[in-house]
Amino acid sequence: MKRKKELIPQPRSAFIRVKCPSCGNEQIVFSHPATQVKCHICGEALVEPTGGKGRFNCEILEVLG
Ligand SMILES: [Zn+2]
Repeated sequence: MKRKKELIPQPRSAFIRVKCPSCGNEQIVFSHPATQVKCHICGEALVEPTGGKGRFNCEILEVLG
């Protein structure tokens, strides 16, 4: 019998405080962005959309839930 259902509970989304690797700016970003999230200050791409949880190219400081 094959069962491929994964029932690992995952929070659907969260807000995450991140730090820009280029300029050190801290900002709040969405964990599951539909589009690329850029630093408000320098324009560095902080989070890439993947269709699910975003790929973070920056330091995660805090998950705000
Ligand atoms: Zn920046």
